[in-house]
Amino acid sequence: MTIFDLSDRVAFITGGNGGIGLGMAKGLAAAGASVVIAGRNETKAQSALSELRSLGTQAEFATVDVLKEDSCHEAIQRAVERFGRLDILVNNAGTTIRKPPESLTAQEWHMVIDTNLTSAFLCSQAAYPHMVRAGGGKIINIGSMMSVLAASYALPYGASKGGIVQLARSLAVAWAKDNIQVNTILPGWVDTELTRNAREQVPGLNERVLARTPAQRWGSPDDFAGVAVFLAAPASNFVTGAVIAVDGGYSVLA
Ligand code: NDP
Repeated sequence: MTIFDLSDRVAFITGGNGGIGLGMAKGLAAAGASVVIAGRNETKAQSALSELRSLGTQAEFATVDVLKEDSCHEAIQRAVERFGRLDILVNNAGTTIRKPPESLTAQEWHMVIDTNLTSAFLCSQAAYPHMVRAGGGKIINIGSMMSVLAASYALPYGASKGGIVQLARSLAVAWAKDNIQVNTILPGWVDTELTRNAREQVPGLNERVLARTPAQRWGSPDDFAGVAVFLAAPASNFVTGAVIAVDGGYSVLA
């Protein structure tokens, strides 16, 4: 086995049916992992499954609503029943509501926090016994530039993405004894359904992103394949609690 080989490994990716989640799923599949993409939208999932299976790997869709604890536990249990083990969890499902803080309702706050942050806790907890049984595991959380920077229209999003970094660090410390590594990726601006809406709702966003990103382009979901493989593979066995920006230089531009 090479340090980037994921043969015989099983990955569960929330929101793996599209966008950045699918980009990472494709990377893991190309490295040999069997992948379970988990989400709500079955139509998107069918097209994602065709892409993944064309890479020669086993891929399944698990229906999940990450807002519901039972749904997270059941989807992970079904994945383990299907493939016999679980080695890699990617906490990627996410959403946002763009509004000024003063007009957000408590319900909107909870929806964003629970989708982006609480779900990562619930799925990690559901995955834990299976990773312990496998002798170790890898958990990859998806943060954001909003984990460290702030925008006036993204209060619960920023709070959830700051929180998911600390969630990863706490799990990294707690579960190091079980040979489970837990890390966070911070994407820059990436062209997906989520940001296509943002470009419509936030005037001038496209131009500001291009001007502020040293790489002079939006990221693509495929930009996340390599970092996902690294963080899921033996290559990163001494990397835990780390935060890795994948942002075309956005976060380092003075
Ligand atoms: P997408 O909207 O394409 O993907 C979001 C995914 O989350 C969808 O596949 C969706 O699945 C899933 N999801 C949302 N809510 C739920 C739910 N309640 N239950 C199950 N699945 C759910 O956007 P991105 O690919 O851009 O986002 C992926 C992650 O990357 C998010 O965490 C986002 O915050 C983060 N990110 C994105 C950036 C960007 O520029 N695009 C920048 C920084 C971070 P379904 O459609 O089936 O509901």
